[in-house]
Amino acid sequence: MSNIPYKIYLSEEEIPDKWYNVRADMKNKPAPLLNPGTGQPLTAEEMSGIFCEELVKQELDNDTAYFPIPEEIRNFYKMYRPSPVVRAYCLEKKLGTPAEIYYKFEGNNTSGSHKLNSAIAQAYYAKQQGLKGVTTETGAGQWGTALSMACAYLGLDLKVYMVKCSYEQKPFRREVMRTYGASVTPSPSNTTEVGRKILAEFPGTTGSLGCAISEAVEVAVTNPGYRYVLGSVLNQVLLHQSIIGLEAKKALDKYGVTPDIIIGCAGGGSNLGGLISPFMGEKLRGEKDYRFIAVEPASCPSFTRGVYAYDFCDTGKICPLAKMYTLGSSFIPSANHAGGLRFHGMSSTLSQLYDDKLMEAVAVEQTSVFEAAEMFARVEGILPAPESSHAIRVAIDEALKCKETGEKKKILFGLTGTGYFDLVAYEKFNNGEMSDYIPTDEDLAKSISQLPKVK
Ligand SMILES: *Cc1c(COP(=O)(O)O)cnc(C)c1O
Repeated sequence: MSNIPYKIYLSEEEIPDKWYNVRADMKNKPAPLLNPGTGQPLTAEEMSGIFCEELVKQELDNDTAYFPIPEEIRNFYKMYRPSPVVRAYCLEKKLGTPAEIYYKFEGNNTSGSHKLNSAIAQAYYAKQQGLKGVTTETGAGQWGTALSMACAYLGLDLKVYMVKCSYEQKPFRREVMRTYGASVTPSPSNTTEVGRKILAEFPGTTGSLGCAISEAVEVAVTNPGYRYVLGSVLNQVLLHQSIIGLEAKKALDKYGVTPDIIIGCAGGGSNLGGLISPFMGEKLRGEKDYRFIAVEPASCPSFTRGVYAYDFCDTGKICPLAKMYTLGSSFIPSANHAGGLRFHGMSSTLSQLYDDKLMEAVAVEQTSVFEAAEMFARVEGILPAPESSHAIRVAIDEALKCKETGEKKKILFGLTGTGYFDLVAYEKFNNGEMSDYIPTDEDLAKSISQLPKVK
């Protein structure tokens, strides 16, 4: 198929002007967030103490299929979008597969990932509401970096709570955020009540995403003029990330390419949800069929070994309850897990789609993920983020299956970002010091037994 270029670009004018809300086409809607105090669905009013008003509307709207992208956000997108769909000719050749492999590359911006797509949207609505600033948590630092870029652009204050072990291991991420004007505090910290409580209970803890979320939410609700923003998991984030899938579909349609399999890594589910949304919409409406595969780390296997239940999104248990595939909010992945995707839960929207068997999931071990990353980097040139490499692993596996069967399947996967800040993990891999840790059934039973009781 030599008529398909290595890179399929859209023009700036072809950047979609609406986000697509897959919930509108779902028969079984994702379960609502619950107030942890009353066990009742969270009202818009309750939510607006934590989140910006416009984002609350997007969060609760299960019916509107398309949301216009405000001009200012679309102009910001033009600085780094459209992102290319790349035909992985070199990888196909290396694998000797008859399959066609395509990837949508989201790493072409300073934050190095897709997270900027939602960061600019969330910062924009905060600004529109006249807020002073926003608070958030960051794990490895991609979300904090993306949000600091967006806040700097719009002149908003930003307070980031960064998981302590990442704060120490990734000083360069921290400095990028500070360069964009954000204040960065290692979490758990003694700057919040919940942080002090966690420190007292677990002295010496190196933190977790759930912990950092608790702190960021506390700071938002106790400081006038501030709201909390989250970089994944929420419905609104999937909505903003639909830009990935809409662009990918438009680009592939130009060349008459219809993917058979669409693959993405899944942490909280935002890039995967965004990539598959328009394709899933077609499947839900009965227009076309696709196989969707979520790839998660074997050390944090929410879909493949979790339960579908209401759970807290944070360790401090101050956030709303979400119904999702979860390992329990007290679950913390093994310290030797290097590859991101560490959140204990999963997007409610994707959880419902998975529960309805509209999507598959596989868990992969980190050494095999880094093997895939290394092969990809050597033939395709891009140094992939470890998170993205989960998707690469399964794309390669599916392409190798085609080699056995001779099938010419078309595989599309999301290459969410670059791995320049993950070189400590690459170093471990290169030194042969990386190991796999798979939690035991007992490990999981322990955190799952602590799920909140919800009728
Ligand atoms: C944050 C991140 C992910 C995982 O988050 P999702 O919300 O599951 O998409 C994947 N890849 C990269 C590069 C990231 O920064």
